[in-house]
Amino acid sequence: MQVSGQRIVVLGTGGTIAGRATSPADAVGYRAAELGIAELLQGVGAAEGLQLVAEQVAQIDSKDMDFAVWRDLAARCAHWLAQADVAGIVVTHGTDTMEETAFFLQSVLAPAKPVVLTGAMRPATAAAPDGPGNLADAVLVASTRGAQGVSVVFAGAVHGPVDVRKEHGTRLDAFSSGDAGVLAYVEAGRLRQLRAWLQGAPARAVATLPEPARWPRVEIVTSHAGAGGAIVRALVADGVQGLVVAATGNGTLHHALEEALLQAQDRGVAVRRSSRCAQGRVLAHAADRLPAAGGLSPLQARIALMLELMA
Ligand code: ASP
Repeated sequence: MQVSGQRIVVLGTGGTIAGRATSPADAVGYRAAELGIAELLQGVGAAEGLQLVAEQVAQIDSKDMDFAVWRDLAARCAHWLAQADVAGIVVTHGTDTMEETAFFLQSVLAPAKPVVLTGAMRPATAAAPDGPGNLADAVLVASTRGAQGVSVVFAGAVHGPVDVRKEHGTRLDAFSSGDAGVLAYVEAGRLRQLRAWLQGAPARAVATLPEPARWPRVEIVTSHAGAGGAIVRALVADGVQGLVVAATGNGTLHHALEEALLQAQDRGVAVRRSSRCAQGRVLAHAADRLPAAGGLSPLQARIALMLELMA
């Protein structure tokens, strides 16, 4: 059931949903982040009694997402969430880093109202764009009574902020929640909920986020055939504060890389072991010498470690 008499705030950040190509047939050679959020909202109707408020927070291709935009976006979300007559927020966003922004926002807001990210795989100028439908579905989820937490709404599915992954480079249904499954589906304008909304406390409050230039430097390295320790040693020499390793399988490492990571850890660098497998989690063992990142992907483990290391 939808709320009424309330506002839904739609924050624009760019992406393909705001992209423009020279021809409606071109779904690849376009420029992302060209149309403003007010333009994208034309023709997207809200349920009766709901008011849509548009605000442009950024205008970027999300491959270029950075800490300054994240901090501004989190601050604008916190501002709007604190207004009693705002029922929820929609964020339009490029698909490339949408899962990172979703996890970051959940980590710093853990909102008791819905914050819904959406985007598109085809530019707004495409003959059959997918953005308008995704945006309408996102508005529906943001105005659903009882919805909360950060989610990604895409191609009719509602994904949670921890399980969601972009798993396809071109398909319209580009996101998956893997073996965890989606939170809900949007079907003919109605929400069919399968799992509970995510609840919890923020790992770090938005107001305590430092200046972007002072965010801890955490890098991701990968274990693979023929891996060595040279990259790790170079990063440590360059002052890296944290390292996330995308390990094989259940968090196993090439012995040469492991040796370098253990030396880095001994020198005070925080190291976390995640898996390069698309699904599953790293199961910890008492004999582990490098801490496991549980069910977090390497990208998410990096964000969690950055927030942990913030002074
Ligand atoms: N490069 C685009 C972006 O992430 C891709 C997209 O939105 O689908 O902004």
